[in-house]
Amino acid sequence: MTYQPSSERYKNMDYRRCGNSGIKLSALSLGLWHNFGNVNDFENSRNLIQTAFDNGINHFDLANNYGPPPGSAEENFGKILKQDFKNYRDEMIISTKAGYTMWDGPYGDWGSKKYLVSSLDQSLKRMRLDYVDIFYHHRPDPETPLEETMTALDLIVRQGKALYVGLSNYNAEQTLQAVKLLKHLGTPCLIHQPKYSMFVRDPENGLLDVLEKQGVGCIPFSPLAQGLLSDKYLNGIPEDSRVATSGQFLNESHITAEKIQKISLLNNLAKQRGQKLAHMALSWLLRDNRITSVLIGSSKPEQIIDSIEALKNIIFSEEELTLINYILND
Ligand code: NDP
Repeated sequence: MTYQPSSERYKNMDYRRCGNSGIKLSALSLGLWHNFGNVNDFENSRNLIQTAFDNGINHFDLANNYGPPPGSAEENFGKILKQDFKNYRDEMIISTKAGYTMWDGPYGDWGSKKYLVSSLDQSLKRMRLDYVDIFYHHRPDPETPLEETMTALDLIVRQGKALYVGLSNYNAEQTLQAVKLLKHLGTPCLIHQPKYSMFVRDPENGLLDVLEKQGVGCIPFSPLAQGLLSDKYLNGIPEDSRVATSGQFLNESHITAEKIQKISLLNNLAKQRGQKLAHMALSWLLRDNRITSVLIGSSKPEQIIDSIEALKNIIFSEEELTLINYILND
């Protein structure tokens, strides 16, 4: 059936400026790490992208290795774009990345110019795109000189294969160095993608300050700690949950009695705020104006609609914030 996007799609979404750039991103963005591989139901993947777009989520985040198998999320996204979004490319911000193992031998991993340039060429072919909006270096490379990696990002922009560049998983110090190099090269860093949620708060130790000072946006990944920051694991492991269906990156060992205790207390607080825990986890990140967008994953279209509810209450009292810190640090 021909897909016709909702004419109301921009009505209920907030768009937040990304650092000092000209770009605004939807407050929620959709990541294709899980649920878009060849192992997944293609029609569900298609429905996820359509539901996101219909509700104002216009930023889609990929990486060369998303699947499984690696590369298949980009291929499936390319099919969906061709089928449904031919006339809407200019309404979308599409990102991809390279930095983790992608192919055999010394040129299919880390941060050399050789790897980044060829990996993006492959990604563009898989997605059937001429360019991506954002190309990220996915993780810092301890062996390749930072100058080489940043020069490769600058080259990619000059070649017209990406409009902007970003960094992911770089710590505060590495980020500052990389951002300065990129500025010097004339290709400013648009955005940083760190792991950040109520359960993983490393970016608060310097990274967020660097990003603010340097005018770089921030898009936290795994804002629900892969689903842990919801009420779904409070009474066991549901059959359709990530722990039961995938188990590779989130498994039973992560669901300790201590975690469940914290989740339960957070869940009570969320109820007092008139929210579900998943909403509160997202709004807790979005209360900070240094955060441009939260990068969610979804296994079902209903979860996307549900997560957007977070935008209805992103204000926290000092008392609530203190209580959250107390629960998390206890
Ligand atoms: P989340 O923390 O948002 O977890 C998503 C999972 O939580 C869903 O698949 C679903 O799991 C569950 N969920 C989603 N919405 C709800 C809801 N409203 N209520 C209850 N449960 C819900 O993010 P991800 O870990 O999926 O990561 C998001 C994106 O971040 C990735 O797709 C990727 O783009 C990016 N990423 C980047 C990395 C990097 O190194 N740069 C690393 C990892 C991710 P279930 O299957 O249980 O239904």
